[in-house]
Amino acid sequence: MRHLAHDFVYYSLVWFAHHNKLRTNVKISCPLCEAWPESVDHLFVCCAVASQVWVCISAWLRIPPFLGFTAIDVLESPWVLDGGKDKRKWIQAVILATFWSIWKARNEKVFRGKRQSVDQIVAYAKEWVEFWVKHRSAQVECG
Ligand SMILES: [Zn+2]
Repeated sequence: MRHLAHDFVYYSLVWFAHHNKLRTNVKISCPLCEAWPESVDHLFVCCAVASQVWVCISAWLRIPPFLGFTAIDVLESPWVLDGGKDKRKWIQAVILATFWSIWKARNEKVFRGKRQSVDQIVAYAKEWVEFWVKHRSAQVECG
């Protein structure tokens, strides 16, 4: 999970850096809200769509809303770091599933012209977490 998380964040950042370099003279707005320029922190955290997704996710986890302006701020929110090891791993898995779901929604809009609702983005993140939990318990049973 940790490797997947780091790879995902790393490749996203590389992609954005490359993309930003290529479009210095072109203004590309965020595919989700179409109101602000696209950047990693905007897309995953500050975007109006992403903010609504995080409100739903924190309510689902029964924790206070995530605070911050960057993707790292979310991953390192005090209630994520303060919990026990298991709780922290669980919340971080949910955060990564949410990043992944937001990324998928962005690609759906960019490559297929399809807009996903906040509910769809949240539902996909939850599905991803459930899949991960099932896969993980299957591994434990086999081991
Ligand atoms: Zn946006």
